[in-house]
Amino acid sequence: MSWPLTWSLWEQVRATPQHRRQPLGPAFPGIVGLFAAQELLRNQLSVLLLERKGLCAGATGAGQGYLWMAHRAPGSVGWALAARSLALWRRRVQADEGLREAIEWQDCGSLLVSTGPGENTALSERQLALNAVGLKASYLDPRRLAQIEPGLVPPGGGGGLLVQSDLQINGRAAAHTLLQRCRADPGFGDLMGPEGEVLGLELSAGPSGGHVVKTSGRRIHARHALVLSAGVWTGGLLSAATGDPVWAQLLQPRRGHLLEMPRPAAMPPVTHGMMEMSYTKHYATASAPKAAAPAASSPSSSASSSSSASPREPADITFTATTGASGSLLIGSSRESGEWDTSPSPAIIAAILQRSALFLPGLKDAAAAATAAAAAVADGKPDDSAGGGALAGLSVRVGLRPYALGGLPLIGPVEGAPGLFVAAGHEGSGLCMAPGTGELLVRHIRTYMGVSGLDTASFQDLRPDVRRRAVPSMTVKA
Ligand SMILES: Cc1cc2nc3c(=O)[nH]c(=O)nc-3n(C[C@H](O)[C@H](O)[C@H](O)COP(=O)(O)OP(=O)(O)OC[C@H]3O[C@@H](n4cnc5c(N)ncnc54)[C@H](O)[C@@H]3O)c2cc1C
Repeated sequence: MSWPLTWSLWEQVRATPQHRRQPLGPAFPGIVGLFAAQELLRNQLSVLLLERKGLCAGATGAGQGYLWMAHRAPGSVGWALAARSLALWRRRVQADEGLREAIEWQDCGSLLVSTGPGENTALSERQLALNAVGLKASYLDPRRLAQIEPGLVPPGGGGGLLVQSDLQINGRAAAHTLLQRCRADPGFGDLMGPEGEVLGLELSAGPSGGHVVKTSGRRIHARHALVLSAGVWTGGLLSAATGDPVWAQLLQPRRGHLLEMPRPAAMPPVTHGMMEMSYTKHYATASAPKAAAPAASSPSSSASSSSSASPREPADITFTATTGASGSLLIGSSRESGEWDTSPSPAIIAAILQRSALFLPGLKDAAAAATAAAAAVADGKPDDSAGGGALAGLSVRVGLRPYALGGLPLIGPVEGAPGLFVAAGHEGSGLCMAPGTGELLVRHIRTYMGVSGLDTASFQDLRPDVRRRAVPSMTVKA
């Protein structure tokens, strides 16, 4: 569908009788905006989606697609949102014929992998904590681990924690499928490309919303509500609109690289999703935000990105591996705090493969080739790493995880701007948490519209102003 047609569709939507559809207003599409849009449509509210580049232009396009509970902190609000989201994902695929296949749903389970005796203890403690909240998790000693994953040889004689109910999807396929489903609804419109770029917002001071979104050619009135779900860019838009710089400081990029490559012929298949135990540090959420913590350098590794513009903390590299429905390997992943550049870094690619080869020895040749390629680039020679050999077929995705200080997303109304809502800051969990986010957001919107007063109290910690107020003063620059 070309965008002028989409625009005229929106104009028609605006003309539909008020009693049937309440025109809602713009939202942004990554996976979070798409789930919000679907939930709004389901509630008989119409939506216009605005996107300046294209579908999956943001973090959603780089996501690995694991929908997991194994690495989360039981009892935290993040756990609750993820658990609700997984229940909604499951309900969706049960209710929607064809969705399971379209999004490449795999009930493959997850394996948290330890790197030696110290982490084996942590793995056993995690098993007890997961079992205590009703999630079945089984500890596998190295011998049993080798039986179910012959290609996996954790360093230091590590074991594994198997959570069979965790699963895998293809995030890009999910976004495309959701957009198709939205477009089939007469209450939906979208503007993609330069005409969908939001250049600014004019917030109405009145009690009944009526905010204006400015694009290059139009001023779009959000009659009832405006949802900002522009991933890591949400903070800047909000700061510019409100004059409050803290929003932009609250949301920061955590750049991530994900590698996709054919499995080397001699390497056994990866049949479960895998993640090294130390990955759990990224999910040790606090309810009070703190400044972005330096990534721990041990036992996961670190690397310097050649594209980093300023001296920052080193990149955090933590091993993850999954197999896509097509059979290709997805290998991750890196985290670089405060890095906005989305060009692939040969140094980071090499560091990810080196880390992965410590767990999957079948990747040793690829790691060596990537290391040589990165060294050549550092010496000013051309990057021909994709040319063949052990790196043949390698493709790289780079995305900006929207990290909100404190490690929890912002979902709900913005105080002082009635009708303005935010859903952003899901860091490495947006694909997993998007359904619960859409549901919670729509509860807030319906309450604001006086349509219903469904409870949102359990997720009070996620309200944007709660998160904003908790930003410590040391991170706030005037
Ligand atoms: C390497 C990597 C691996 C990951 N793996 C997983 C995983 O396995 N499981 C998981 O749950 N999550 C994973 N994630 C995280 C997940 O991808 C993100 O949390 C999620 O995609 C965030 O979605 P979003 O909709 O908030 O933002 P985005 O996907 O970033 O979407 C925001 C959109 O807004 C648009 N936009 C911004 N500004 C404007 C403007 N002014 N006008 C118009 N449009 C604008 C952008 O172009 C973009 O398309 C991973 C992320 C990375 C980088």
